[in-house]
Amino acid sequence: MREPCDIVQDLLPLYLDGALRQQTKLYVDRHLAECAKCRADKDEMENLAKWQVHQSFRQQPPPLSPEEAQFIRKVKTWRRRSGMFFLMLILLCSAAAWMLRTYVDKPVPAVNPVQSIRKEVCAEPLL
Ligand SMILES: [Zn+2]
Repeated sequence: MREPCDIVQDLLPLYLDGALRQQTKLYVDRHLAECAKCRADKDEMENLAKWQVHQSFRQQPPPLSPEEAQFIRKVKTWRRRSGMFFLMLILLCSAAAWMLRTYVDKPVPAVNPVQSIRKEVCAEPLL
C-alpha cells in the first residue's frame, strides 16, 4: 500500500496548483478520501503554501541606499521633464500645422495675363 502513497505524494504539489489532468485528479481525490496520512500531508502543504503567500505580502522591500534613492529621483525627474518636453513639442507642432493651414493654404487668385495687359492698354488715354 506504500506505492500509491508515494505516487500521490509526488503529485500533491501539482494537485494543489490545479495542474493535474481530470483523470489524475480523480485518482488523487480517491486516494485522499481513503488515506489519512496523505490527506494530512496535503493539508500541511496547503497551509505552508498559504503561509508563504501571506509572508510574501507582508515582506517590506529593503530600504534603499542613498545612491539608489538619488538615482530613482533622477530617473523620475528625467521622466517628468521628458514628458513635458514631448507635450510642448506636440503643442508646437500642432500650432505650426494650424498656422501653415491657415496662412499658406489660402487660394491664390488667378490672374489672367492677357486680361491684365488689356486693362493696362485700355487704361491709357486715347489721343
Ligand atoms: Zn496515501
